[in-house]
Amino acid sequence: MDLDPKDTSFVLPSDTTSSSPSSGSVSSSGSTDGWAGRKWLVDEAKLMELFRTCTQCGVAIEEKRVATRASQIRIHWTCLKGHTGEWASCTDQRNMARNNLLACAATFFTGATYSDIKEWAELINLQLPGKTQFYAIQSKYLIPGINPAYKGQQTNIHSFNFLLRGKNWKCVVMRGVIALECVRRWTSVLHHIRGIHRWEENGREYQCAHPPLSEEDQEKKRWLEHDSPAFRALKELVEEKTLLRDLRQMALFKHTGSLEVFHNVTLKYASKRLHFTYDSMRARTELAIIDHNINIGREQKTTLEGKPQYKYMYTKTTQQWVAKPVYEPTSQEFRKDLMEDVLKLREEKSLEPWPRPPPRPRRLLQNIAPVPRPDPSELVAQRLSRFKQL
Ligand SMILES: [Zn+2]
Ligand SMILES: [Zn+2]
Repeated sequence: MDLDPKDTSFVLPSDTTSSSPSSGSVSSSGSTDGWAGRKWLVDEAKLMELFRTCTQCGVAIEEKRVATRASQIRIHWTCLKGHTGEWASCTDQRNMARNNLLACAATFFTGATYSDIKEWAELINLQLPGKTQFYAIQSKYLIPGINPAYKGQQTNIHSFNFLLRGKNWKCVVMRGVIALECVRRWTSVLHHIRGIHRWEENGREYQCAHPPLSEEDQEKKRWLEHDSPAFRALKELVEEKTLLRDLRQMALFKHTGSLEVFHNVTLKYASKRLHFTYDSMRARTELAIIDHNINIGREQKTTLEGKPQYKYMYTKTTQQWVAKPVYEPTSQEFRKDLMEDVLKLREEKSLEPWPRPPPRPRRLLQNIAPVPRPDPSELVAQRLSRFKQL
């Protein structure tokens, strides 16, 4: 076994004899179905029913030892006659439980956050990696995988002129949209995303293409702060020179709707939490761009008779019914490549020591405060008196 001394996410098997196949291991060694194999929610109690009798001689199992690594459960057993075996609920990816890696990857690549899945998992008591492991995996294996995919797509866009002639791209082809206007619209996302829908540029007043937002909408939506790392990352990507050059060369957008689509895709990957770090926000924005670019040329769906399909919606702002085209479903195939890349990265790189030696978040918080904390009873009294005044 190829042990990595730096990788403390790996718990050494306490009984090495059990990993030898001759000891009657029923582990699924040799199952190489990669990341895409089907997985199941299994009750621990139901699982234990499988470990009542020895797989070699059929007598009762005398002793069971259960070890867990987040989503992975391993059972080491000994029968009355002394046979031993070990079984693990998922394959290891170079000494890391693969499902831990995959659970984190699937969260990140679908635009979810750790806290989204945590609450869900806790409620049904599903075992998943903890916060520290999630962020360690994110920075080591998830974020690094996205940029090459993004760069790869940007390279492809450079050869877009050829693609544009293809059938699938016929509706993306420039239709008389002035290139500069196109770039202006593209960069206008930087106003909108901060909650600014009217602004001045070169002495002219502009506004977003969407209908005016009600005060309630403006309140409800989360906007990026001007000086946040999230905004900085988005700005850097939106204003990337090569991207703007491509935009100018071939006005990508048939109509303003495409910009709205990009906004929505960005929000899918990065809207809900505004405290993303720079790296994570950049990766999430790159994900949004990959997603957007792959799905921008979708054809409108047609009925069996070949007529274009529409859905009919009532919009509150204009108080009118409108017809909206129904498009072919979006494609998320790129996520599958990313999942594949994560496993490859794991083969190449070790995780930094994890968990870090004794984490003491409480102490740290106290140190950040410039003044020592007053007596707790004093703070409670202050709070109570404040509420009385209201
Ligand atoms: Zn036995
Ligand atoms: Zn706007």
